[in-house]
Amino acid sequence: KQHDHWLIAFREEMETKYLRRLTIITELKKVLTDNQSELSMVYQPKINLQTNNVCSVEALIRWNSANLGFVPPDEFIGIAEQAGLIERVTAWVLDRTLDDLADFRNQGYVFSMAINLSTRDIQRPEMMQSLAEKITRKGLTPADVELEITESDLVEDTAVAISNLNQYQAMGFHFAIDDFGTGYSSLAYLKMLPVQTIKIDKSFVLKLASDESDQQIVRTVLNLASVFKLSVVAEGVEDELSLNILKEGGCDIAQGYFISRPLSAQALSEWLASTAF
Ligand code: C2E
Ligand code: CA
Ligand code: CA
Ligand code: CA
Repeated sequence: KQHDHWLIAFREEMETKYLRRLTIITELKKVLTDNQSELSMVYQPKINLQTNNVCSVEALIRWNSANLGFVPPDEFIGIAEQAGLIERVTAWVLDRTLDDLADFRNQGYVFSMAINLSTRDIQRPEMMQSLAEKITRKGLTPADVELEITESDLVEDTAVAISNLNQYQAMGFHFAIDDFGTGYSSLAYLKMLPVQTIKIDKSFVLKLASDESDQQIVRTVLNLASVFKLSVVAEGVEDELSLNILKEGGCDIAQGYFISRPLSAQALSEWLASTAF
């Protein structure tokens, strides 16, 4: 009897998840076809800890669905990948972020634009080609954008990842390994990857000020990065104490709510005009 209850509860949960997935796929298809106004981009500044200047902003997608409400990217990006919709999501992201970057350049700002890509994206050379063309059309260069790819994606198929990244690096693109520390990459592998930057995952940074073991992990990553001559970004910096620990430890760049939340292009312009950073 107890077992039956458990089974029913399990089945109901599976059905709920399955239905939610299906709804997201259906709604996302609609959005990509005829209602792109539900999608928007926000930008989160990253500051150079030596100079305190905004050196880059990270582009993050937002989806405010009329039918589903706010759907977090952590939820719908993975579903879009599995449903074969990520190409179109990425194409939309690239168009919008490059437009906004060109606007920021016209306002006199020189920071670069960090864009998140999924593995699917880097497996498609034609997408990178079209990205290069879009960049040129806007009067920008590949060095003006920085492409963030998660560590776990890279580990999945190392050989292919390395050969793709080498090819794109030759086109002038810069890469950062996102979520560093969560994907079990080996040292040998880090040595082979043509990346310029690693981003320490926010799970090691959020409690940095109070957590002794996080401090040790961050110190280890900073040492590792200096051996490989990589620049390090710490994401998820939420308080001043953590920022100071990172600065004193030799971390290059910081990003997080303490500096700024992700902002719309308009709000970022206003923030840039008024900030001490
Ligand atoms: P991510 O690339 O690791 O992005 C960092 C996430 O941490 C963002 O969540 C950001 O809003 C959040 N964050 C930044 N500073 C802080 C902080 O101080 N404290 C806390 N608690 N969180 C902070 P978001 O925007 O919800 O994005 C989640 C994930 O969705 C991203 O993780 C990325 O993997 C994916 N994503 C977002 N936008 C895109 C996109 O345009 N394309 C692709 N392929 N993936 C995207
Ligand atoms: Ca990222
Ligand atoms: Ca991350
Ligand atoms: Ca992530």
